[in-house]
Amino acid sequence: MDTIKSFTLDHDEIVPGIYCLGEANGVVTYDLRFKVPNGGDYLSYAALHSIEHLFATVIRNGPLKDKVVYFGPMGCRTGCYLLLYGVQEKEAKEATVWALEQCLLLDEVPGTEKKQCGNYLEHDLIGAKKEIQAYLAVLKGE
Ligand SMILES: [Zn+2]
Repeated sequence: MDTIKSFTLDHDEIVPGIYCLGEANGVVTYDLRFKVPNGGDYLSYAALHSIEHLFATVIRNGPLKDKVVYFGPMGCRTGCYLLLYGVQEKEAKEATVWALEQCLLLDEVPGTEKKQCGNYLEHDLIGAKKEIQAYLAVLKGE
C-alpha cells in the first residue's frame, strides 16, 4: 500500500504549530499540532475529547462554517486535523486562532449529553482550555 502523506512528514522535525498537508479535490488538510511528537507530553484523552467538541462546534458556527469538511483528534494525542474546502493557509490559520479564542469563552463543553456523545463522561473543560491557551500562545508567537 502507498504511505499516506501525513506519515511521510518527518515527525522528528515537527514542533507545535499549524501545518498544511496539501489539497485533494479542493479539500485542504491542516495539521493542528499542539504537542511535540514523541515528546512524552500528550493531550489527555479527556482534554482532547473536549477540544474536539469545543472546536468543532465553534468552527462549524463561525465565518467558515460552509467550508468545514472535518475536525477531529489525532490518535497519537499530539493534535487535531482540520479539513477545509478551498481555504488557503493564511485564512485557515486566522480561522483557527479565532476559533480557539472562542473556545475559551465557552463555560461548558457542547454535546456532552449521553445521547450526543460516545463517551460523555470523559470530558475535561479546564484541561482543554489549558491546552488551548498554550497552543494559542504558540500560534501567536508569544
Ligand atoms: Zn464526544
